[in-house]
Amino acid sequence: MTGEKIIIAIDGHSSCGKSTMAKSLAKILGYIYIDSGAMYRAVTLNALRNGWVNNGKPEIDKIVSGLKNIKITFIWDKSTEKNTTYLNGENVEEEIRKPEVSQNVSPISTIAEVRREMVKQQRENGLKKGIVMDGRDIGTVVFPKAELKIFMTALPEIRAQRRFLELSENGLDVSFAEILKNVKERDEIDSTRAISPLKKAEDALVLDNSNLSREEQFKWTLKKIEEIINKNES
Ligand code: C5P
Repeated sequence: MTGEKIIIAIDGHSSCGKSTMAKSLAKILGYIYIDSGAMYRAVTLNALRNGWVNNGKPEIDKIVSGLKNIKITFIWDKSTEKNTTYLNGENVEEEIRKPEVSQNVSPISTIAEVRREMVKQQRENGLKKGIVMDGRDIGTVVFPKAELKIFMTALPEIRAQRRFLELSENGLDVSFAEILKNVKERDEIDSTRAISPLKKAEDALVLDNSNLSREEQFKWTLKKIEEIINKNES
């Protein structure tokens, strides 16, 4: 697809396939892909490693002052088609997906200063457009003028089942019940937090993929992109 570059914002609930969709779009369009959730996960990993979370309670002051020592970067590997997250130059892609990080990331994502810093870095990546970013507040806060906003969702049980298969395939010993609990807890915290809660932007298109294959979702989204680019050109 040729034409003017746009910004594509994909928001939605945990584990509903946002990053799979975002990566496929970035690949076919030749755009940059940014996984904003990985950034919050990297901040969380840093906090856990430093012992700044006690019994599930984040030590806000320490986490905030630690932000200045964190550099989060991404490298896209063309051959494996994988996006790798680096924390201060260290590959943390696997570690940030572990249950301990998943369990602590939502409370840490409610911290105002953490959000301010992540949003700043995310916006810097979008200056030249030609970007697909997925998260919770991309269409509402990070890029409110994004040309395409998609709000993805699916039933919690279906999302938990997908995540269960993905983690099991990667050799992690996890239980379905635990994952379902985590999915529901993150939905609750993400949707009810005071700052930048997860909600559909008014102009976002809803994509409920409970009963859709990856191919069907991808085709649907590409059609929307084509419509936008054609409209912008005419
Ligand atoms: O996308 P992923 O599930 O990896 O995100 C992990 C967590 O990071 C979310 O549950 C949410 O708490 C937080 N997050 C956020 N804002 C974003 C992206 C993720 O608060 N833009």
